[in-house]
Amino acid sequence: MSTGCVLFTADLRRHDNPALSAACRCFDAVLPLFVHDRGLARFASPNRSQLLRESLRDLDSALGGALLLRRGDIVDETLRAAREADAKTVWLSAGVTAYARRREGALATACRDAGIEFRLFPGVTVVPPGELTTGEGGPFTVFTPYYRRWRAQRWREVGSAPRPHTFVSGLASSEPEATADSSPDLLRGGESAARERLERWLAGPIDSYGELHDQLGAQTSRLSADLHFGCLSPLEVAVRALERGAETYARQLCWRDFAYQLTAAFPNLGREDFRPRGGWRHDDLLLSAWQQGRTGYPVIDAAMRQLREEGWLNNRARLLVASFLTKDLGIDWRDGAAHFMDLLVDADVANNSLNWQWVAGTGTDSRPYRIFNPTLQARRFDPRGVYVRRYVPELAALDDRDIHEPWLRNPLINPPLDYPPRIVDHAEAARDFRHRIR
Ligand SMILES: Cc1cc2nc3c(=O)[nH]c(=O)nc-3n(C[C@H](O)[C@H](O)[C@H](O)COP(=O)(O)OP(=O)(O)OC[C@H]3O[C@@H](n4cnc5c(N)ncnc54)[C@H](O)[C@@H]3O)c2cc1C
Repeated sequence: MSTGCVLFTADLRRHDNPALSAACRCFDAVLPLFVHDRGLARFASPNRSQLLRESLRDLDSALGGALLLRRGDIVDETLRAAREADAKTVWLSAGVTAYARRREGALATACRDAGIEFRLFPGVTVVPPGELTTGEGGPFTVFTPYYRRWRAQRWREVGSAPRPHTFVSGLASSEPEATADSSPDLLRGGESAARERLERWLAGPIDSYGELHDQLGAQTSRLSADLHFGCLSPLEVAVRALERGAETYARQLCWRDFAYQLTAAFPNLGREDFRPRGGWRHDDLLLSAWQQGRTGYPVIDAAMRQLREEGWLNNRARLLVASFLTKDLGIDWRDGAAHFMDLLVDADVANNSLNWQWVAGTGTDSRPYRIFNPTLQARRFDPRGVYVRRYVPELAALDDRDIHEPWLRNPLINPPLDYPPRIVDHAEAARDFRHRIR
């Protein structure tokens, strides 16, 4: 009887999983393995650990209880498990970060030395990083031309879930990770919940995405964490969105691929400025006011409190709080990105870093000097103050006119609010910012 091992990483699903499908086609029995990689332990956060745990539980039950969990050094543990099952191969989906690539290199060497075949498969992006290059043969650093090529590219076929198969079972599994307190309103993780979310999204709400997605309270797909953990195939989501004519939505999925191909090409993007620019401030008091949602700017505070409660924000809210931190407060984007990494349920080195750098003006934005005015943005994307009222209850009683500028109320007429004063004046901050970076 022939046995192959599939190592799951950022592809915790059965549908459209090329590595798993190939193994089920080629071997009588498949050993499905997940290793809690010691090297990644420092990036764990309560929100993501909770989703990971749920995703692994769901995958295990879809595989008939056969998912083998191990903990430790990913190379040692994979080799040990493959040997125990007498597996001839170790197959997995190719990662993009510098860390993922290093460990793939180490696994490839260890497998070769052990006489085990090692192979990488696509599945983490719609178009694999490196497949699309500019005329000069390099990675794309500007989004629009990348998007044009991405749309024109012939994509691989979406695969189905493999039919029930023989999975190796009976090897000693590690205990699932224990999780600390996560955000109270976290969504449920795992492929089953993700597929339900996808079906609900495709059944209707996706049709108004183009028109509404920038509104602060609008419903967006909320599939980012499912895509991060690979509970959904980005290719399947993109193909099905385009079948419904949702071009704007597919374009957002292309931003994800764009970030991944940039990360693959520039592995230090998570730490180093893409276009260097100094002059960052490190100020614990200002940083803490931003983190706690106590800046005195209602829309910024609403978003920072939503982040804490739900581990998630829509794209417009992320843009506003990131611009406020880096441009109004002048604080290093790395401090903001680290806070997002702590709390976001979809926190992802590639997407997070690319977007933070884009907003901070050190990345691929062609207008790095732009600075969002939080009050004008709030009036435009939360015109009735519904979003602010939901997350900043101390302002709930204000009328629509005052809600985004509570400091304009007349102190002789209005009672004081239990709400902090502004920690910075936007107009002055914008002048400072432009002065600082020229
Ligand atoms: C400062 C900042 C930090 C961010 N950090 C992350 C992160 O750590 N992880 C993450 O997945 N996204 C990140 N984003 C991108 C984006 O905000 C989220 O993907 C999106 O809000 C998630 O909600 P959704 O699934 O409802 O998205 P939708 O609006 O429904 O979009 C569908 C999918 O498209 C992709 N997408 C949408 N916008 C972007 C974008 N700007 N860049 C890359 N992919 C995009 C996501 O996979 C998303 O799930 C960040 C954006 C900013 C401005």
